[in-house]
Amino acid sequence: MVEQALPDPVVRVAGAREIARDVVVIPDEGVPLVPNIGIIGGREAVLVVDTGMGIRNAEAVREFAVEYAGGRELFLTTTHFHPEHAFGAQVFAGAATYLVNQDQAADLRERGPGYLEMFRGLGESVTRRLEGVVPPDPDRVYGSGHDLDLGGRVVRLRATGRAHSRGDQVVEVPDVDVLLTGDLVEAGQFAIFPWFPPHDMDVSGTRWLAVVRRLAARRPRTVVPGHGAVGGPELLADVRDYLELLQQETWARRDAALGERMIADEVAELMIRRHPHWAGREWIEKGVGCLCAEHALAERDPGH
Ligand SMILES: [Zn+2]
Repeated sequence: MVEQALPDPVVRVAGAREIARDVVVIPDEGVPLVPNIGIIGGREAVLVVDTGMGIRNAEAVREFAVEYAGGRELFLTTTHFHPEHAFGAQVFAGAATYLVNQDQAADLRERGPGYLEMFRGLGESVTRRLEGVVPPDPDRVYGSGHDLDLGGRVVRLRATGRAHSRGDQVVEVPDVDVLLTGDLVEAGQFAIFPWFPPHDMDVSGTRWLAVVRRLAARRPRTVVPGHGAVGGPELLADVRDYLELLQQETWARRDAALGERMIADEVAELMIRRHPHWAGREWIEKGVGCLCAEHALAERDPGH
């Protein structure tokens, strides 16, 4: 594939729309390295979910949120530590209380600086967006779950355990049956496996599959993915089915002692045939790499 300059990953708050009562999404509009951003209101407080990458994007989100809140208290959380989701949180200091789970706080601390470096190598527009950015420091850290009372509406912050990253979190708005998943779900894209050995090997295909199986079984009415169009429970089913097949096809070839390169080629061909319109084909190979490593673990310890 020819290297192409990434488009400027700009968050366009003008695209914001209400997807349920007092739940607004600023959509990614299909721009790489722009996440879907959620804003959830209660009587007394408003929660922002994800910041966009860099100071200018996050300032636009903060201004939008402050205006939307109209005097209500502001909270911020991030679905996981990746730069386009969390690396703007510093501009919310003093304006919002920033809260994440403890594994994500560890990701921010331990993986944040390395990701900042890596993303600065992705091209000029990204480098510019990351000027002045420091990995953020949460105000409050919870364990596996936290119920945030916004006044007349309780939002559930739930750590899922290691999947797309070590500190993934989903945000549930039970009264309108909305689930914000971060990068556990992408719509119209192959699942993003940040498998960068030896620097970052936290992503786990088997654990990710277990998480989406559980979330898909609950069939939430509205699903806000990390990237791609807002949809319904079929978004969760799509990721579940993809990860199931990715694991099966990878492990069957590993059982037959095929090499990782050949497995990646064969599995990529099969997956592209199945999902010809999905973006992010480069992530199939990363997923195969991750699952080959997990296959070796599973052989050593069948209980894995
Ligand atoms: Zn991510």
